Amino acid sequence: MLDLASGGGEMSELLQLTELAERFRDERDWKQFHNLKDMVVSLQLESSELLEMVQWRSGEALDEHFRRERDQVGDELADILYWILLIARRLDIDLSEAFKRKMRKNEEKYPVAESRGSAEKHDRLRKR
Ligand SMILES: [Mg+2]
Repeated sequence: MLDLASGGGEMSELLQLTELAERFRDERDWKQFHNLKDMVVSLQLESSELLEMVQWRSGEALDEHFRRERDQVGDELADILYWILLIARRLDIDLSEAFKRKMRKNEEKYPVAESRGSAEKHDRLRKR
C-alpha cells in the first residue's frame, strides 16, 4: 500500500500527491509507456469517464445520481488529477503557481462588474 509518510513537513500537498502518483507508476515500471501524447490522451479519457456519468441525465436526476455515486465521482476526479499531476511534473510546471496565475488571468477576463450573474463567454460580456 502507498502511504504519504514523508517526514517532510514542508512538502506541499500537491507535491506529496505527485510523488504518490510517481511511486504508483514507478512500482509498476509504467514510465516507459508515459510519453506526453499518451499522457494527454489518458487525461482526456479519464475526463470522458466523468462525462459518461452525466450521459442521459440532467437536472435533479443528475444531482441525485452524483450524490448517490459520490465515491465514483471522487474516483474519476482522482484519475483526472493523477494525469494532471504527472503531466505537470513531466513539463516541470509548478501547478500551484500555474493555477494562481491562470486565476489572475481569469479575473482580468471576467471582471466582477461585467460578469457577475452572467454565463456569457468573456468576449460576449456586455459592458454595463
Ligand atoms: Mg477512471
